Amino acid sequence: MVRANAHAEPFIKVFERNGIPYQFVASTGLYRTPEILDLISYLRVLNNFMDDASLYRVTRIPTFEFDPQDVIKLLRYSRKKSVTLYEAMDEASEIGGMKNGTLKSIEKLFELLKKHAQDARDKRVSEVLVTFLGDSGYLDFLKKRDTVEENQRFENIVEFFKRIQEFQRTGETHTVKDFVEELELSTEGGDDPAPAELEEGPDTVKVMTLHKAKGLEFPVVFLVSLVEGMFPTREMQDSLKLPDGLLEEELPEGSHIQEERRLFYVGMTRAIDKLYLAGADDYGGKRKRKPSRFLKEIDLEIAVSKISAGEKKIVEDEISVGDIKSQKNEKKVPRKFSYTQMEAFWNCPLQYKFRHIMNVPTEGSHTFSYGRSLHQTLRDFYTVAMSGKVPSEKDLLKMLEENWINEWYDGKSHEQKRFKTAQEALKNFYKKNKRDFGKTVFVEKEFNIKMGKYVIRGVMDRVDKLADGTYEIIDYKTGQAKKGEREIKRPIQLMLYAKALKGVLKLNPSKLTLYYIDENKPFSILKKDFEKKMAKVEEKALKTFDEILESDFSATPNNFICRFCDYKVICPHRK
Ligand code: SF4
Repeated sequence: MVRANAHAEPFIKVFERNGIPYQFVASTGLYRTPEILDLISYLRVLNNFMDDASLYRVTRIPTFEFDPQDVIKLLRYSRKKSVTLYEAMDEASEIGGMKNGTLKSIEKLFELLKKHAQDARDKRVSEVLVTFLGDSGYLDFLKKRDTVEENQRFENIVEFFKRIQEFQRTGETHTVKDFVEELELSTEGGDDPAPAELEEGPDTVKVMTLHKAKGLEFPVVFLVSLVEGMFPTREMQDSLKLPDGLLEEELPEGSHIQEERRLFYVGMTRAIDKLYLAGADDYGGKRKRKPSRFLKEIDLEIAVSKISAGEKKIVEDEISVGDIKSQKNEKKVPRKFSYTQMEAFWNCPLQYKFRHIMNVPTEGSHTFSYGRSLHQTLRDFYTVAMSGKVPSEKDLLKMLEENWINEWYDGKSHEQKRFKTAQEALKNFYKKNKRDFGKTVFVEKEFNIKMGKYVIRGVMDRVDKLADGTYEIIDYKTGQAKKGEREIKRPIQLMLYAKALKGVLKLNPSKLTLYYIDENKPFSILKKDFEKKMAKVEEKALKTFDEILESDFSATPNNFICRFCDYKVICPHRK
């Protein structure tokens, strides 16, 4: 029994290598099983070739035989050149070191996409999918039903087709586009049917999460990964909670640990004859893992059994060089951190992994286009102002036109509406700030600062010199200002900037401001209030970096975070 689906992977690999029959009873719905995620991703790509996250998932369909190292190269290229993954694939022959096999895989994929996109315009979604399964060779792969897992995979596909047929029976239109839209709506509404139920088969090892094990009993149970951070799992960060270090007093042991402890007891009581409790001190990462606190709580003597040198050799022999290389690549955690990285990790370690380790590109959004347009306009405006000639309001609006990013809006009228909002916001901004335009000393100032063994990097939107010779750091925000009131009470990002201003530029920051441009509202915190919190913020940052280095990047799904996560369409753990 495992605490999280991801913890099952190493065991499953060993079962597969040794031909031990097993059944993985995942605690996920049908739409989050790997094979169905593959099919949904392919349909989403047919609907929109620029859907990077789904295209990335498609590269992992085994029959396309994409080389994982080359996929990483494509992702890096797409990020560096600001092109979509599809465009990066199109330019793959120009990317150095790309293997011939990968170029062939891209050719095969493009050929199929072209053919099936044509079909997708007028054929029923089931027809398109059947053609894809045949043309891609995925059907032959899925038809192998030698193991329980392969059988489960096949039955899930059958179940998915039943869903599609239901859609075709009840819906007015039957195309891929309609199906993808309907699927999005229903999954957002929480619909995710159970995977296919397998009939009783031969004896197998049942691998399952503790949530799935409730109410079941087995003669022998192995409860694994009993180390701190895996079981009990790390507590999910509450987006509204103050950082631990900033709390006035210690909180009592939270409900999270109590829930974990309850699950531990659920696991132990599933065993009829024998119970094995296991954990290792090495799950990747730098530091040794500590045994789970639950083992101490039941007064268990922790017996550490070492593998003899000979046995270890056998284990090493079984791991292929390819496995080792891909593991190393997946673990390329950066040593330089930004506030955005910290936030992603607090949201969900898997989100962090998708964005900052694997660099999986995401679709753009009109909110991003809008925010970036305003940031760039103010950057240009203050750059000119710093040269001594303050631009007029008319100049400011002209700069908006030049910097306007017209991408990802829901049509022309939506874009025009947002452009007008931006114009109004900047006019108000100009009126409110015109007496202070001459104070700016830095615009979009990049910095790197050492903190412990780490480096923090960032960009300050603006720094102004105040009348008393001290400095104000301003960070622009778009969106609703009501968030600002809350955020300014714990401006971790701005406090890290203040540390950089002082440490790197040797200037004395006395005021930190979040400026909500749309509503023209600044929220500020003064030195006397932020300085006393600085040590705690540093402690919090260092703790987060340590955790990132040690993390196995297990998902910590949460309704709110998953809803706004850029990777929800490819993530099997989303809520
Ligand atoms: S969808 Fe949810 S679980 Fe998956 S990466 Fe995003 S936040 Fe994490």
